[in-house]
Amino acid sequence: MPTLVEAVSLLAAVVATATGILVVRRRRTSPLALPLAVMMFGASLWATARALLHVAQGSVPATVALHYLVFPGAAAVAGATFWYLAVLSGRRLSRRAGLLLLVHPVLLVVALVLDPVHEWFLRLHVDGTTVTVGAAPVFWVHTAYCYALVVAAIVLGLGAMVRAVPGHRRVFAVAVLAATIPTVGNVVTTLVAARSENPHLTPAFLLVSAAIWWWVERFGGHSAVVPVTTRQVLDVLDDAVVVLDPRGRVLDANPAARALVGAPDGSLDAHPDAPWGAVLDGDGAGPDEGTLTTATGAVLDVRVTPLTDAVGRAAGTVVVLRDVTELERLRAELVDQATRDGLTGLHNRRALGQRLAEAVDDAGRTGRPLSMVLVDVDHFKAVNDSHGHAVGDAVLAAVGRELAAATRDGETAARLGGEEFVLLLPGVTATEATRRADDVRARCAGLRVPSGRAPVRLTLSAGVATLAPGGTADDMLRAADDAMYAAKDAGRDQVVGAAEPAS
Ligand code: GH3
Ligand code: MG
Ligand code: MG
Repeated sequence: MPTLVEAVSLLAAVVATATGILVVRRRRTSPLALPLAVMMFGASLWATARALLHVAQGSVPATVALHYLVFPGAAAVAGATFWYLAVLSGRRLSRRAGLLLLVHPVLLVVALVLDPVHEWFLRLHVDGTTVTVGAAPVFWVHTAYCYALVVAAIVLGLGAMVRAVPGHRRVFAVAVLAATIPTVGNVVTTLVAARSENPHLTPAFLLVSAAIWWWVERFGGHSAVVPVTTRQVLDVLDDAVVVLDPRGRVLDANPAARALVGAPDGSLDAHPDAPWGAVLDGDGAGPDEGTLTTATGAVLDVRVTPLTDAVGRAAGTVVVLRDVTELERLRAELVDQATRDGLTGLHNRRALGQRLAEAVDDAGRTGRPLSMVLVDVDHFKAVNDSHGHAVGDAVLAAVGRELAAATRDGETAARLGGEEFVLLLPGVTATEATRRADDVRARCAGLRVPSGRAPVRLTLSAGVATLAPGGTADDMLRAADDAMYAAKDAGRDQVVGAAEPAS
């Protein structure tokens, strides 16, 4: 029966081998895969040799061989640990340089099979079938070198952890922990196993370390190299990029995001009004997109992308915020330009068309009255001819102001073109529309538009039409036009109602 320590050693060998096989498949895509695989296979060799020592009892050559095999395993673990953490911490360690670290375990194998070179390493004392082992000078050189490598690796890992963005520190912490555990185990073993009847505990620590690496490889997704260039790109980006954990806490933010909330160096969690807070639901789960306006009036375009870990669980959210204040102002200006008449500021013909269609629909549905006044400036050509085009424009602008002043909520004043205007009056009856049109006519008749010479006076002719049941927008326009011409025929400066509702 194997003892507990041997069973644990065997389990360590199995877990380390499985992890090594899992990892080595990624060797082409990740520069971290090969060192981790070597580390795991080294650990496997180390633990296997220790586990089998019990089985091999009674066979002197097998026992001796197994005692020897421990050391290349340990050397591979130490070399690969340094290799892994050097790459992880961003050192430019090529694959070839990494493989150079494996010269040590290979040399050990060669040295140990050579007689009598191995005696410089271990002093074996064979008594019948019992083999006892003692350290020779080269053993101490090997041990010192291994410890130096692992300590250097841990120092590299800790340094990188301090420099890393906060959300990435765990990657280094896990690697440093996994490297530290077997080292501690080995120190403990070296101390307690000084007396040879004590069990070798290192494989138990190797089991913990291998289990951690298996977990990282399977679930952590953390053995990717830190994306240095991505960091640099984020730093120079004008867009604010914020990474939040599933609870909405800030894991990382680029300088643009810090500038956005005025926290160049300070903690971003201390900014409850930070705009990315507004894009998450109360529970921080449901992302929301679109634009949002900050307290200072800046308009931000918000993009929210959920992140998942290797097994599909929610790992956090990336929020990208772009300042679109100027773009939004231009867009609003363009929308305005597309629907407004440049000279009078009234709605243009196109906007009138849309509003008229909507108003006709609405009146058809609700049965409310809908009236329209079509206004034409009398003898306008004469104003142009005697005062010039600029004064003509001033007259049109003055009429525009009167029409705008005459409209109420929900009503539309539009310039149809030239010196023709329309008032669209939803909910207003023919009689009321005629009265309001006459008000406008009277006010315009009172206008005095300045010119180079005497102020210009003007009059309007207007036609009023009301939508009949089943009538269309065109019917209404035609009826209003007819009524307006009737007003012209009747001597101008007057309002005429359509003979009957337009249908
Ligand atoms: P009536 O009383 O029969 O309506 O005569 P009118 O002179 O007002 O009508 P007519 O259609 O003959 O003339 C309209 C004039 O309006 C002709 C055109 O040069 C002028 N006009 C059209 N658009 C503008 C503009 O934007 N600015 C100026 N200043 N004149 C314009
Ligand atoms: Mg006209
Ligand atoms: Mg006219």
